[in-house]
Amino acid sequence: MSTSKKATTRPATPRCDLCGGVDFSIISASDRHGEALQTGLCRDCGLVMHLPVPSEAEVAEYYATRYRQDYHGEQVPNARRVMRAWNNGERIHRQLTPYLSGSESVFEIGAGIGCTVKAFETHGHSAAGIEPNRDFNSYSRSKLFTRIENTNLYDLNDAGSPQLILLIHVIEHFSSPRRALTHIHSLLADGGLFYVECPNLTGPFATFDRMFHYAHIYNFTPQTLQAMVESCGFEKVATLTGEDNPDIHMLFRKAKAKPAIAPLQRHSLHVEAVLNRHNAITYHLRPVYLMRRVQKLWSYMVEGLTAGMFVNRLLSRLAKQAAKD
Ligand SMILES: [Zn+2]
Repeated sequence: MSTSKKATTRPATPRCDLCGGVDFSIISASDRHGEALQTGLCRDCGLVMHLPVPSEAEVAEYYATRYRQDYHGEQVPNARRVMRAWNNGERIHRQLTPYLSGSESVFEIGAGIGCTVKAFETHGHSAAGIEPNRDFNSYSRSKLFTRIENTNLYDLNDAGSPQLILLIHVIEHFSSPRRALTHIHSLLADGGLFYVECPNLTGPFATFDRMFHYAHIYNFTPQTLQAMVESCGFEKVATLTGEDNPDIHMLFRKAKAKPAIAPLQRHSLHVEAVLNRHNAITYHLRPVYLMRRVQKLWSYMVEGLTAGMFVNRLLSRLAKQAAKD
C-alpha cells in the first residue's frame, strides 16, 4: 500500500459539499491580505470554498491557537466588542420576534461572548449555547451569567431539543457545512426553527474588503446557502435580507419530509460574473472604499467613548438580575 496516511484524512479529489461535484474553477490564488490561499468555485452548483478544504483537525487546530489572536488580538472582550455583540443580539431578537411565540427554548452554536444568548434570555426565552473557543468562556459565565459550554458541535449529542437554534457567522467556518447542518438537524426539536447568518458573497462590493481569508472556508450566495440548508432536511421560512445586503439572514424550519431540491443550474456562471464585476470595480471604488474606512474609524471613536459606560450599566443590570434569581 503506497497511499499515505494523509489520503485518509483528505480525499485526493475534492468533492463539493453541496452537490458532490468534482469540477472546480480556481477563482482566486490569494486572500484579502495577498497571502497564498486557493479559492475554488464548483462549476456544477456555484459553491465557493478553499481548495483544498482544510480538514476538521486543521480547523480545530487553527481555532485553538490562532483565531482570536489573528482577528481580535485579545483574550478578554473589550467594551466596544461587548456593546456591539449585545446590540447585535438585540437586533437578532427583534428580527425573529414576528416568527416566535416568545416561549421557545433557544440554543446558539458558536455563541462567542454569549451576548445573543443572554439577550434572548432577558426577553423571556430559556437560552444556552456552546462556544469551542475558551477565551471568553469565563467572561460569559461570570459577567453575563450565561449558560455557554466550552464544547465542540460534534461532541454535543443532546442540547435539550431546543425549539430555535441560532448559527450566526459560523457556517462559513466549518470544514463541512453539510456535516454541521446534519448534526444541528438532529439536535433541533421536531418542527423547530433554525436561523442562520453569514456573509453574502454576491452582495455588491460590500464584502470585497473581507473576501477570501483562511477562517472563511466557504463563501455562500443566498442561493447556495438555501440549497445547502434545505438539502439537510430544512424548509425555508423567510429570507430576511435583500440580495444586495452584505450579509445573508435566513430562517428555516425542520422539515417533516426531505424537501425536493432544485439543482442550481447556471448559478456558477452568475457567481463568476459577480466576482469578475467585483474585480473590475474594485480599483474604481478605491475612493469609496477609503471613505468607508474613514467612516468606520470615526464610528470606532464614537463607540470607544460610549462603550465603557454602556457595558458597565449592562453588567450591573445583569448582576442584579442574577442575584434576584
Ligand atoms: Zn457543487
